[in-house]
Amino acid sequence: MDNFRELPAEELPAGVHSGCEFTSVCINTAIYLPWLVGQCARHGVRFRRAVLKHVTEAAGLSHSGRRADVVVNASGLLACRLGGVMDSKVYPARGQIVLVRNEANSLMPTTSGCADGEDEVVYVMQRALGGGTILGGTYMKGSWDPNPDPNQAMRIMKRAVETHPELTGGKGVEALDIIRHAVGLRPAREGGVRVEKEKIDGTWVVHNYGHAGWGYQGSYGCAERVVELVDEIVGRTKPLSKL
Ligand SMILES: Cc1cc2nc3c(=O)[nH]c(=O)nc-3n(C[C@H](O)[C@H](O)[C@H](O)COP(=O)(O)OP(=O)(O)OC[C@H]3O[C@@H](n4cnc5c(N)ncnc54)[C@H](O)[C@@H]3O)c2cc1C
Repeated sequence: MDNFRELPAEELPAGVHSGCEFTSVCINTAIYLPWLVGQCARHGVRFRRAVLKHVTEAAGLSHSGRRADVVVNASGLLACRLGGVMDSKVYPARGQIVLVRNEANSLMPTTSGCADGEDEVVYVMQRALGGGTILGGTYMKGSWDPNPDPNQAMRIMKRAVETHPELTGGKGVEALDIIRHAVGLRPAREGGVRVEKEKIDGTWVVHNYGHAGWGYQGSYGCAERVVELVDEIVGRTKPLSKL
């Protein structure tokens, strides 16, 4: 990590046992994902939209007119319901957030836990290019509830202004300027991510799912492994990827 340092006791907020700081990046996914789509299109990827009952159906969707040699299964949380995969180790880790207009001065504090409960956490992320500031959050294993809980929202906002008073200039929760409340279900998996190849009903499938709360951070590394596995299947020795 660039600029990594352990924080001395006098710099720690009250109730915090230990801490460190380092320089990092914050991705504004609302901008990053459409950019990625553009990169793929520029490099010749053809997009098709469909709801699949079985993973091998994807092989029949190739634009080439013939069955694809390999299917990459990146079905996230729904790997637990997709025919041919039905991975019972996959489960949701529910994350509730509050998106606000207040700015955090480029600091992004994250704590490893808090006193409000085992599945409640504290983080503040100011997104690039006017994307607002994310106040988190929760990590509720096994919860499929897609609706924001107002009580949880209040605890999230309270913790954020307590750990980061400059968010509202010391004026407390009331001075938060809320854009929206949201919930996402992280695709968690007992035993961790699944990146491996498997022949399912005669079709080669490379699995890449179960990234829980680090799917963006780990995406390049996992994608590199996916490319290696596809190369093994098709017997390619020289990389052809133009991405
Ligand atoms: C609150 C919250 C905070 C997070 N914070 C971070 C963070 O700080 N850093 C980080 O790196 N990650 C973070 N994540 C995690 C990150 O969002 C996920 O790890 C990542 O989105 C997983 O990507 P994926 O492509 O594997 O799955 P998804 O994004 O879920 O994509 C799976 C796709 O497969 C499609 N699909 C599934 N089944 C079928 C089917 N049968 N037919 C057709 N399509 C199908 C789905 O529609 C979906 O489009 C966070 C998540 C949440 C909820």
